Amino acid sequence: MDIRKIIIAIDGYSSCGKSTTAKKVAARLGYGYIDTGAMYRAVTLFFLENKISLTNPKEISKALSQIQISFNHNPRTAENEVFLNGVNVEKEIRKMYVSDQVSEVSTLVDVRHAMVAQQQKMGKKKGIVMDGRDIGTRVFPEAELKLFMTADLHLRAVRRQQELLMKNQLVNLDEIQHNLEHRDRIDSSRTESPLRKAEDAVEIDTSYITIEEQVDIVVEHATSRMLFAANPVLKD
Ligand code: C5P
Repeated sequence: MDIRKIIIAIDGYSSCGKSTTAKKVAARLGYGYIDTGAMYRAVTLFFLENKISLTNPKEISKALSQIQISFNHNPRTAENEVFLNGVNVEKEIRKMYVSDQVSEVSTLVDVRHAMVAQQQKMGKKKGIVMDGRDIGTRVFPEAELKLFMTADLHLRAVRRQQELLMKNQLVNLDEIQHNLEHRDRIDSSRTESPLRKAEDAVEIDTSYITIEEQVDIVVEHATSRMLFAANPVLKD
């Protein structure tokens, strides 16, 4: 049977387990994985390092022309890591000082246009899992499978704290919860492609299910969409 490659778009609030799920789903299906949040974080890091003013369009557009973002496989961690102008910034972009600024930078129209264009190129051949905030609504509105993830705010903060701890970063739980709330608020209320559930997205509340259960749910939906893509006469 002709099982076609599809696009799996995963959107949702911060720290709902989107990236972890997306990575595992991609591994199970033999698909590529793109963490679009890492791209916005890399832009933010560049803006911070070069003191780019967020209110100066000329400076922003010049900065964007100087930014090159790529993903490279690290055989040691078996992960795709993000590079900014040839430098591995995977660790740096996850730090709190970047998390504190990333949503403001992500409201900028020029930044979004540049990132969306790059993401659309990366997914052109399909066979990809992409996670972010606007993948199903803006980057790939025609994606065969769209998911929207939610979870209880406190549980998300606890998970995020554990993740940071694994990276040797000890951050206060209140600070993390405040950051998640702050980012969700900005992401949901910005004018340019705000975070929202696409009408045809499947919603998954990850509060009380394990990562493996999340992966199983997504793979099940993906399999049925692949069959449907290969045989459009079948009922979805
Ligand atoms: O996914 P992650 O939490 O690393 O994303 C960091 C931030 O990047 C989000 O809070 C959001 O402001 C921004 N982002 C976005 N659009 C995306 C992905 C991330 O605006 N597609």
